[in-house]
Amino acid sequence: MSMRCTVCHRPYEGPHNHYVCPHCGGSIESPVDLQSDSERLRRAIREGSSDGIWGYRDFFHVPADAQPVTMGEGGTPLIHTDRLGRLYGMEGLYLKNETLNPSGTYKDRFATVAMTLARAEGIREVAIGSAGNAAAAVAAYAAKAGMECYIMLPPGAVKERAWQNMAYGGHFIYGMGGVNDCVAMAEDGEAIFGWKNMCTTMMNNPLACDGYKTIAYEIARSMHFDVPDYVICPVGGGIIISKVYKGFEEMKALGLIDRLPKMVAVQAAGCAPLVKAYQEGKKATEKWENGSTIAFAIFDPVTFEGVTALDTVRRSGGLAIALPDEEILEAMRACAKLEAVIPEPASAATIAAAAKLHRDGVIGGKDKAVCVLTGSGLRDLKLFSQEDVQVPEVQPGDMEALRRAVAFYQERGESGHDA
Ligand SMILES: *Cc1c(COP(=O)(O)O)cnc(C)c1O
Ligand SMILES: [Zn+2]
Repeated sequence: MSMRCTVCHRPYEGPHNHYVCPHCGGSIESPVDLQSDSERLRRAIREGSSDGIWGYRDFFHVPADAQPVTMGEGGTPLIHTDRLGRLYGMEGLYLKNETLNPSGTYKDRFATVAMTLARAEGIREVAIGSAGNAAAAVAAYAAKAGMECYIMLPPGAVKERAWQNMAYGGHFIYGMGGVNDCVAMAEDGEAIFGWKNMCTTMMNNPLACDGYKTIAYEIARSMHFDVPDYVICPVGGGIIISKVYKGFEEMKALGLIDRLPKMVAVQAAGCAPLVKAYQEGKKATEKWENGSTIAFAIFDPVTFEGVTALDTVRRSGGLAIALPDEEILEAMRACAKLEAVIPEPASAATIAAAAKLHRDGVIGGKDKAVCVLTGSGLRDLKLFSQEDVQVPEVQPGDMEALRRAVAFYQERGESGHDA
């Protein structure tokens, strides 16, 4: 299996637990042979998978005899928005609903491959440092595989994420400091405890990150291989945006599609190292100091795969944009109310970005734009509570009070139906 840099394409010969191109700082990949049996590969994508993401197995490097650790991840719907698109004046606004994955995020597409590889190698203990979602995905698949899993989350992590990790039986540790410190802890612990660091980066687990390419195959198939104009991804470490684009590039090389989408990288204004580097025309990101945002899943001061994500955005002819928390929360609530999909803030940022880029005249009203809703907001319901609203109370049998309660909502003019 040959490895190379995704950016400068030079062969990689460095260490096998921390992969970075020594020449350009790009991420390392193991390319798929698209030539030898291209008809078989085309068929896999055309037919889709009824077996999680494992119907696309030929696009990952997993030993042929490895039994997948799987829970039906992937195969998520691409939703054409009716009411949300109308709100923004966008006819071609789509949502790739990754909130439906087993642990609630697209990171399950990584975890299923990572845990399958780990089990095939005879590994019995894994560890991961994370803001919450990556750990939840790895803890879930570790539980399914019957492996010990050590979890390091910063004390500021959203409580619901911490509880979800505990529910899966992860051995929970508060890593004092930030996400980056937790990530380093899991990596440094490898030499001491012999566990496998399951960090969801190409830097640590380049082969498992290939699981994310399946998002592109599914989007293309859902759209009958009529490629969207824009694919909009949140950027934390910069992996999902890079791997989704790689999936589209593979399909183009296979002749399944005739053009490529423009990739839009979205960050929160309170922590936007990639957007800053993009705007300044730089090739690499710098650490963001003293950031803060409600979108904790993309609150990554260090963009681990910054060089690659910047290259992806530019290569695709796309762009990078940052949104303030208020716009992210507004988009999140609108999506829940109008499309009945509840994304978490990091994911809703893509919707806020689509709306903003349409207002700015970048995305046309008829352009097709896909927002990748990476994670579920069902664990963030407190962001939806309307504490300013006095909810009416009605005693049993008090029809007069019930009449007043109904009138209360009629007067607010929020019947929920379109005018
Ligand atoms: C991890 C995560 C992201 C960021 O993805 P990267 O691949 O690190 O750029 C976005 N949204 C959610 C919900 C996440 O959990
Ligand atoms: Zn390189």
